[in-house]
Amino acid sequence: MLIREQVALAPFTTLGVGGPARYFVETHGEAEVIEAVEFTRSRQLPLFVLGGGSNLVVADKGFAGLVLKVAISGSSSFTPPHENVIFTSGAGVNWDTLVAQTVDANCAGLECLSGIPGTVGGIPVQNVGAYGQEVSQTIREVRVLDLQTLEVRTFSNAECGFAYRASIFNTTQRDRYIILQVSFALRRNGKPNVRYADLQKFFASRTGNPTLAEVRAAVREIRHRKAMLIVPGDEDARSAGSFFKNPIMPQSFFEELLARLESRGLQLPGYPANEGFRKVPAAWLVEHAGFTKGYSKGAAGISRRHALAIVNRGGASAADIIALKDEIQAGVLNEFGIELQPEPVLVGF
Ligand code: NAP
Repeated sequence: MLIREQVALAPFTTLGVGGPARYFVETHGEAEVIEAVEFTRSRQLPLFVLGGGSNLVVADKGFAGLVLKVAISGSSSFTPPHENVIFTSGAGVNWDTLVAQTVDANCAGLECLSGIPGTVGGIPVQNVGAYGQEVSQTIREVRVLDLQTLEVRTFSNAECGFAYRASIFNTTQRDRYIILQVSFALRRNGKPNVRYADLQKFFASRTGNPTLAEVRAAVREIRHRKAMLIVPGDEDARSAGSFFKNPIMPQSFFEELLARLESRGLQLPGYPANEGFRKVPAAWLVEHAGFTKGYSKGAAGISRRHALAIVNRGGASAADIIALKDEIQAGVLNEFGIELQPEPVLVGF
């Protein structure tokens, strides 16, 4: 295991900003992960666990501890004597590679999550979801290293405490566990999920149900149009994905706002969330607060293809990105009284 010093972190992120890690190590197995953690203990260093770097903003001054990149590879599948197929993947496996394998095997459950950047280990943390599917619907088990005891243990789905964009890994037990491996139970020959308007529109002119492979291709195409697919050289895709969470608000607040905006000729979109709450697209709030697609502030800007992505137009610093984030948050708060929460993890700030 090679621990390197002063390693630039920007190339390990999709946004491409930020300074170096004091120490950096890539771990390929569970024993190496434990060894790396012991290194931080012996030197009393802070630890940051890196996956695919697709949801990350690293500060310009970098990170003054050890960055541990989990690069545990390997995927396998087995079919128990019932209808599900179990897919198990190392935390370092590229997420979209796993999704492609499950679709090729004609197993349903992850097809709408095609084209999401990042690695398998990052996926359970915020219960990643898109186009009507979220991973909590199919995760069977999550294998982790407990940083309190240095023991490896396995959580069942119920023990992960999944909720909308949340799990124990980003709430009650934040920073306690390193995810090593995840398994999914998928439906063999299952029907694809075509619930969201974007997907329904995509298939509007076709008769008959699309296949899993067609839904996967459609999701990738829709994401590509919104620059939410990582394509080398595509400036609008040089981002950390959605920069703000879609806010969930009490129904009464939503209705008040709806009425206030209707009187200005604006139709606020809202979707059902937990009972008594509504979910509002953050992108709508950002655009209607005056931050249209393509808005620029120095080398940082808003993607020309999706109002929710802050992009590095080339040579941006983390400070540029954060200044734009602050400006958008202040604008949305001033216009709608809603405090947008950033979605990416901020490291070294
Ligand atoms: P979008 O499809 O325009 O959706 C924006 C918002 O409207 C989301 O909150 C979405 O809920 C909600 N929505 C749209 N259609 C809905 C329906 N039929 N029923 C219930 N809620 C509906 O958003 P986008 O920004 O272009 O992103 C595409 C998809 O990727 C969305 O599902 C989005 O949430 C997801 N995404 C997830 C992450 C993440 O997991 N961290 C990051 C980026 C984008 P949902 O959020 O429940 O889908």
